[in-house]
Amino acid sequence: MKAELKDIVSKSILTPGVGQLDDFTHSLNPYAGCTFACSYCYVRQLPISLYRDEEWGTWVDIKTNAADLLRQELSKARRKGPVTIFMASSTDPYQPLEHETKLTRSLLEVMLELPPDFLHVQTRSPLVKRDIDLLKQFGDHARVSMTIETDKEDIRKAFAPKAPPIPARMQALREIKEAGITTQASLSPLLPCSKEFPQKLRPIADRVTIDDFWMGDGSGGKRTGRLGISDIYKRTGMEKWYNPSAYKVVLKMMQEQIGDEVEVMLSKDGFTPIPEKREAGIGENLTFF
Ligand code: SF4
Repeated sequence: MKAELKDIVSKSILTPGVGQLDDFTHSLNPYAGCTFACSYCYVRQLPISLYRDEEWGTWVDIKTNAADLLRQELSKARRKGPVTIFMASSTDPYQPLEHETKLTRSLLEVMLELPPDFLHVQTRSPLVKRDIDLLKQFGDHARVSMTIETDKEDIRKAFAPKAPPIPARMQALREIKEAGITTQASLSPLLPCSKEFPQKLRPIADRVTIDDFWMGDGSGGKRTGRLGISDIYKRTGMEKWYNPSAYKVVLKMMQEQIGDEVEVMLSKDGFTPIPEKREAGIGENLTFF
């Protein structure tokens, strides 16, 4: 089905950081809607999706005045104090149509004119590497966080068939790291993965952050539960991974195999502008491999 794309004029562009993002002063969404249509997307359960007739994943609103608004709102916000921005919280800033609109790119240009104290770019699209030239200019004040929920393409296809392939995401993160930009691999939400996952991440991520439906959907897993995600686990024979303790297995594996070189973080701590390293609890004796 072809996505419905619409130009809109937005009233504002910087949203105060709340909930899981309350360590950021603002979140920034160049688009509303998202054509990656991940089955587990918690935004499906938020008003932006619930009060819309079209199904989540079939529409995108393009905030055509986003750059002008950002220039105004960022100037104002910077006068009030430090500004830390999470882009983006309820869409992917690198929608396929970003190839043509270059809207997210225009926001990076505005942020280089009026630099925030920190910018976290969250995406699952290899298109982000197009903007390496701009992202480099933020120096230590930016991080590119690539969602890599699993290293298994069959699992990615079962849970997020319209999202970009995992190898392309890994390759993009590699190029971004090689360009000297701080990189993060976000295993968020963590999906069933292989034992080789840590070694695949070692050369491409400065940091690995693990999050899951129970810690990260803002409702203790209830929102995701309503989406019927457990059916996909059953269909793929991965039922035992649908477990609030599954992350402990992967956390331990990451810490043991690559923790000497790569920072391993958990849930909200991995999405803070200036993270404090906290002891992540590992406890249960689960075996998945
Ligand atoms: S890319 Fe993010 S915003 Fe888009 S559908 Fe997937 S989880 Fe939701």
